[in-house]
Amino acid sequence: MTAKKTSQRCILVSNDDGIFAPGLLALATAMREFGRVIVIGPEENQSANGHRKTLTKPLRVTPVKIGENIEAYSTDGAPADCIAIALIGLLGVQVDLVVSGINRGANLGQDLTYSGTVAAAFEGTIHGKPSVAFSLDSRSLEADYSAAAQVARHVAALVLEHSLPPMTLLNVNIPYLPYDQIKGTQITRQGTRIYHDELVTRLDPEGRPYYWIGGKAPSGDVSAEGTDIWAVHQGYVSITPVHLDMTAYPMIEQLKSWKF
Ligand code: MN
Repeated sequence: MTAKKTSQRCILVSNDDGIFAPGLLALATAMREFGRVIVIGPEENQSANGHRKTLTKPLRVTPVKIGENIEAYSTDGAPADCIAIALIGLLGVQVDLVVSGINRGANLGQDLTYSGTVAAAFEGTIHGKPSVAFSLDSRSLEADYSAAAQVARHVAALVLEHSLPPMTLLNVNIPYLPYDQIKGTQITRQGTRIYHDELVTRLDPEGRPYYWIGGKAPSGDVSAEGTDIWAVHQGYVSITPVHLDMTAYPMIEQLKSWKF
C-alpha cells in the first residue's frame, strides 16, 4: 500500500460504550494503516440505546484526547447521532468507511435491535457509506482487544477492497480468544437470543417503588449451525450481512388475503 493511496482515505470510527472505552481506542488504532482516522463517540455509555436520533435538543461536540495522535471528538448525542452529524457536514471530508466498536460484549441475534454499536453502523449505511459493526464476546472491563483489533483490520481491508451493497452492513462478532486460537471465520445469519431479564423492584428514600431491568446476561441457541450465536460459541469470528429492509416478505401475500 502506497503512502499516497492511504492518505486519500478517511475512516470514521464510533461506538456506544463511550468515547473513552478501550475497544474504541483499539479499533481507531487498528484503522490507522488505512488512512486518516476520525473518532466521534458518545461522551457516556449508550449501550442498548438502539438507533436513537436526537431531534429535540442541541448536540455539543468537544475535542478529546483518547490516545497518541488520534483525532477524536465526543458528543452528548447517541452513537447514530455521532455518525449522522459527522456525515452531514461536521467533518467536511469524504468518508470511505464507517466502523463502530469494538463493543464490550457480543451483539448477536435480536441484540441487533438494541445495539448502539450496530445503530452507528446502520447510520453509516443510511448515508451510503460501507459500514461495519465490531463486537467482542467479553463483557470484562479488563478485556484485551488486541485479537479483535487484528480481526477488525482484516475485515476493514476486505470491505475497502470490495465495498458493500446499498443498505447492507456487516455485523462482526469476535470470540474472546487469543488470535491464534480463533478457529477462522464463518459467514452467518442471525440466531436466536434468549433473554433472562428480571424486573428488580426497589424503594426510593421516600418509599416509592422504582424498577430496574436486571437478571442474568442473555444466552442463546448455540446449536443452530450457521447462526452468529453458533459461530461465536464454536470459536469462530462471525460475520453477518445485515440489510436495512426489515420487511417480512413471506407475509406480504398472506396479509393481502386478510382483506383489510
Ligand atoms: Mn456497548
